[in-house]
Amino acid sequence: MPKWNNWSGKLTARPSEILFVRSEADAEALVRSAAAENRRIRVAGATHSHAPLLVHDDLLVDTRGLSGIVSIDLDTNSAWIAGGSRIHTLGRQLHTAGLALQNQGDIDEQAIAGATATGTHGTGTKLGNLSSAVTGMRIATSEGLVECTPDENAELWRASRLHLGAFGLVTQLRLQLRPAYRLQEVAHGGPLEEALEGLDEQIDTNRHYEFFWSPQEDEVRAKSINETDNPPVYPLAEEGQRCAWNYEVLPNYRPHKHTEMEYSVPAESGPACMREIAHLLKTQFTDVVWPVEYRTLAADDVWLSTAYDQETVTISVHQDVRVDDEPYFRACEEIFLAHAGRPHWGKVHYLDGAALARIHPRWEDWWRVRDEADPHNIFVNDYLKDLRYAS
Ligand SMILES: Cc1cc2nc3c(=O)[nH]c(=O)nc-3n(C[C@H](O)[C@H](O)[C@H](O)COP(=O)(O)OP(=O)(O)OC[C@H]3O[C@@H](n4cnc5c(N)ncnc54)[C@H](O)[C@@H]3O)c2cc1C
Repeated sequence: MPKWNNWSGKLTARPSEILFVRSEADAEALVRSAAAENRRIRVAGATHSHAPLLVHDDLLVDTRGLSGIVSIDLDTNSAWIAGGSRIHTLGRQLHTAGLALQNQGDIDEQAIAGATATGTHGTGTKLGNLSSAVTGMRIATSEGLVECTPDENAELWRASRLHLGAFGLVTQLRLQLRPAYRLQEVAHGGPLEEALEGLDEQIDTNRHYEFFWSPQEDEVRAKSINETDNPPVYPLAEEGQRCAWNYEVLPNYRPHKHTEMEYSVPAESGPACMREIAHLLKTQFTDVVWPVEYRTLAADDVWLSTAYDQETVTISVHQDVRVDDEPYFRACEEIFLAHAGRPHWGKVHYLDGAALARIHPRWEDWWRVRDEADPHNIFVNDYLKDLRYAS
């Protein structure tokens, strides 16, 4: 049996088989034949999730061959994109057509269907996560290939914009884009309290604002990023000083293996929650050297989104992959939950289905629509099954 591990190496599995798909027709045939044999399927993007979404002992499908832009509509600034497309390749390809993602995360290694599966986001108080930009999906389900948009199979579209790989194999998705744009980064720093005091102004006056706080030095590394008419400067400057196209400035190089917990808390609770996490680090987890990241995220209407119906702040805590992260992460989770937080779907959390049902108003709706799309639970692993039946 092949051995599988996620990006960090912390999660491992022995799927019975790993198969590659290279086209929508290929994906449709693979799902049909696996379903006929009553096999269970999980579909992998770039395996960057810290949650055990892909831990599984049956068929694992690798989608890296399912890549590229399928069609572009310049009237609506939207495009159908193959699900396995890596965000870094996509950025360049969209740019050639004069288009760009509205926003993206801290790295660009993910597959687009993998990133939307978990509500991957960047920073920006007026900018939603990638799932909120999904205006259509084409999914190879055990019942056949289905297309859903706000006008066709609308409930399926509402539920599957953040899909957790639980509806079927996402062969294509349509994204709302915008004309290409350039960005200028500015880095600044200082102690945490100073950053928190000036936070509202920074968040309100910059398209993107975020910071990393290093507990050992009590030092904030903040970045403000705004649109610019200045020409791109190559070679690209170091992080914090780049001036270039959106897809060149927004992603960063993050090679150091780590695990991560992230919660979204209501925007107004962000500073208080951050202060409590900082206090925890200064008083109880004094040996943690990994930084805490603070970002903003616009409210959306994506059913399982951490920003469903509320503007949020996202706070991420990290730990070295060789260290037992659980005591630290559990202590952080207690603070996040006291601030009505919702956990990132691609990162570590310890909640069961009952707790998730309490904090996600559309939890039951999501499962109802998912169950209709995949009535024989072909696309559910033990982790998802536990979440489902504990709720
Ligand atoms: C270094 C690092 C930096 C990160 N930075 C950010 C960040 O800035 N912001 C943020 O929000 N998150 C961030 N994340 C989390 C990451 O974006 C998410 O975990 C994301 O889901 C990973 O995408 P992936 O392509 O690796 O998907 P995977 O981890 O491979 O899969 C995630 C889910 O997508 C499903 N899936 C993937 N492709 C398909 C498909 N074609 N059809 C059906 N299901 C599919 C899988 O089954 C699984 O359920 C980061 C993670 C790492 C390791």
